[in-house]
Amino acid sequence: MSAINAQQFERGYFGEFGGQFVPDELKTVLDRLADFYKEIKDDKDFVAELQYYLRDYVGRPSPLYLAATLSKKLGGAKIYLKREDLNHTGSHKINNVLGQALLAKRMGVKRVIAETGAGQHGVATATACALFDMDCVIYMGEEDCRRQALNVFRMELLGAKVVPVTRGTRTLKDAVDEALEDLIQNYNNTYYMLGSAVGPHPFPTIVRDFQSVIGREAREQILEMEGRLPDYVMACVGGGSNAIGLFAPFYNDPSVKMIGVEPGGRGSSLGENAAPINYGVPAVLHGFRCYTVVDGQGDPSPTHSIAAGLDYPGVGPEHSFYHASGRASYTSVKDQEALAAFQELSKTEGIIPALESAHAVAEAMKLAPTLKDSEIIIINLSGRGDKDANQVFDMLKS
Ligand SMILES: *Cc1c(COP(=O)(O)O)cnc(C)c1O
Repeated sequence: MSAINAQQFERGYFGEFGGQFVPDELKTVLDRLADFYKEIKDDKDFVAELQYYLRDYVGRPSPLYLAATLSKKLGGAKIYLKREDLNHTGSHKINNVLGQALLAKRMGVKRVIAETGAGQHGVATATACALFDMDCVIYMGEEDCRRQALNVFRMELLGAKVVPVTRGTRTLKDAVDEALEDLIQNYNNTYYMLGSAVGPHPFPTIVRDFQSVIGREAREQILEMEGRLPDYVMACVGGGSNAIGLFAPFYNDPSVKMIGVEPGGRGSSLGENAAPINYGVPAVLHGFRCYTVVDGQGDPSPTHSIAAGLDYPGVGPEHSFYHASGRASYTSVKDQEALAAFQELSKTEGIIPALESAHAVAEAMKLAPTLKDSEIIIINLSGRGDKDANQVFDMLKS
């Protein structure tokens, strides 16, 4: 994945980040996708069909909910929650997979492949494939299959074929490698569904566009409810899709401050977090350039987060650019702080957040008390926490 040539710098860049650092066979496939997407993205029928499924299948628009009790308890800014946890399947991931599945359908492709780590993206992909009657193959590390047996069963219930990957460390990275090999061999009839705003061009752009429904709705909703824009928008950042979906529609509103929250894990030492903007350097990872957590040799390092969905050594190229250009700031929240926020939001608002989303809640809990009560924070509540209840139960008991 490291063949670089000068022409590749022309495509899909956000400042110095992004690009397409891939072998030539894959570049051909990606360029075809980029061209097709450019043609279809503003097509009236395509847009209308996606809107139909987002409304009637996902349940959009998701509410923008004033967390009045939490706001009052913290004493400071008004906190609003963008309720992506209420979407069908329980997170923002469905916005992206439905968009890409419709794209694949328009390309005439009937077979979809994806990789998955903890299984959340795999379940979302299997859902979209069930809906549109497409063949679905999910690559998942054998070790992850064992740890997430229930998600494997969910995907199978939805009609997907789950392929346990037995190479390497038998985890996410190996699943990505195997999925890419499948794509290179079968690109004529196969669509590769990427789950976050990462990877080589055009994926970061496609995923950002499909997730931007979050920010477009939130912008309209807050103008309706408060008659003005928020002072802060905040979201957790793994690959960065829920955050860029909220942020991008506010990009040209300079009064709106953006805060991305990375997983600080157990601390700043190598291997103890998954916070590349805070603790990494610009490097090439999985076919694109971004801030990356690297070891002494400059290679991507193993990472850690309490939240499986945030556990990735890189971050989307657009976030890398927002950081480098100063448009957004990126903080980090530790495992224990996220765990405390998980419990706090459950108790004060009756909303159990995903451990991922709890990172954004934790940051807001620190910020809100320092602000005036006329100020407004919007937190992207990217998903619900039912999936995490077992894990939290084990952690609180031990
Ligand atoms: C996957 C996931 C994330 C992390 O992915 P991003 O691309 O950074 O949004 C965050 N929250 C939830 C609930 C997820 O499932």
